[in-house]
Amino acid sequence: MTRSTRDKNRFGQHIQTDIPDDAPLADRPGHKLRTSNTIVDRQALSNQSKETLQPVTFEDQTGFIRMVDETEPEIPNQFTGPSFRNKKEKFRFDGHKMLHHLDRVQAWQKGERFAPVHIDMGLTKFCNTACIYCYAVVQNMTRGVMIQRDVLLRYIEDCGKLGVKSIGFIGDGEPTLNPALYDATVRANKCGVDTAMATNGLLLDMDRAEDLLKNMTFIRINLSAGTPKGFQKVHQSPEKNFDLLVENIRHLVRIRQEKGYKCTIGLQMVLIPECFDEVIAEAELGAELGVDYFVIKQCADSEYRELGVCYEDYRNVTEILQHAEALSTPNYVVQAKWNKISAADETPLYRHGVRKYDVCYGTPFLSQISGNGKVYPCGPFYNKDRFLIGDLHEESFYDMVMGDRYWAVHDDIARSVDVHKDCAIGCRQDYINKFLWDLANPPDHVNFI
Ligand code: SF4
Repeated sequence: MTRSTRDKNRFGQHIQTDIPDDAPLADRPGHKLRTSNTIVDRQALSNQSKETLQPVTFEDQTGFIRMVDETEPEIPNQFTGPSFRNKKEKFRFDGHKMLHHLDRVQAWQKGERFAPVHIDMGLTKFCNTACIYCYAVVQNMTRGVMIQRDVLLRYIEDCGKLGVKSIGFIGDGEPTLNPALYDATVRANKCGVDTAMATNGLLLDMDRAEDLLKNMTFIRINLSAGTPKGFQKVHQSPEKNFDLLVENIRHLVRIRQEKGYKCTIGLQMVLIPECFDEVIAEAELGAELGVDYFVIKQCADSEYRELGVCYEDYRNVTEILQHAEALSTPNYVVQAKWNKISAADETPLYRHGVRKYDVCYGTPFLSQISGNGKVYPCGPFYNKDRFLIGDLHEESFYDMVMGDRYWAVHDDIARSVDVHKDCAIGCRQDYINKFLWDLANPPDHVNFI
């Protein structure tokens, strides 16, 4: 089928072309290439058709359909429409979505003040489990401390006024320990602000589950085990709580289905060596429960590496993660965050915390608020007073964003923080920072796209 040129070219190199035997050849092909000067005549090719017409009869009608000879190999220049479609990425777990917020990007480029696109926030400073990978421990957990209800609702309304697009109740403490969670998401929906949460799922108030499913964009269950034993080990919570959680998730999925709510329900595993052997069990559990996704992320460590994360360890789990991803179906995405998990494949420089940008520009786009109501540019900087913007119990968020202190802190971050040594490894703003850095440092000749 394929006309091969000589095995070796005139320079002694092995060569092979894929020109089909029946392809029309150009009779004045130009100068000799490294192969030869045998060139397909593309003009003649466009008149050749690989199609034949075949009559087809259906009931009392007869028509002709085009038949392509399927024994033909896949060859270029047939222009018969798509031969392949790339799989659409349903969720973007391993990247950013800044291209959908270019109005804010332009405001930033012009040096204007603007509201964050998204805010991650804790609603409490404590938790009912004790996960062995918990980053919040380095953020000073304090039992009983939480944002007060009236303050939280006022803040939500301020976010609506400012044009904040979304709030993730994803922060230092467990959000379901704050009873105002349910009213907050209802209020946010009324204010035009999307909400989501990450929870251990054990204390969900099932009488108010509908408020969550109706108003939230997604509910992410933090679960890093697929068996009761693994659950007890990683979350340091009794094995029976694993069964309770599984029932809660089953219940959420059932209500969503019965009522036709759109809320995405997913599972997230924080990958550490202690749960490598739980990955497949959890991937199978997610499929059985009917959740929308199971995402597996790297464990974020502090600037002092207090969690002892070693990216080399992730090399041992590649096959397991690939096996888990193969359990995906059209309605169930299993995905590992390879960009972060594969950090061990970076050069030693990047592997040990040096970043691919020098300045943190991302915090005005994505801010973080601690579960005690204190507003900071980012979670790894909680409790660093120099970067405290204010307390929602003392000042409205609207006034903060409009005020000078807020912008002075963001400027201080950009001017004074050395992201290569002062920052937690793989922080939340990392993907955004890379994007903004590229934008702020264009190469020459940008018009030659
Ligand atoms: S790069 Fe540093 S300052 Fe910026 S968000 Fe991440 S941890 Fe915070």
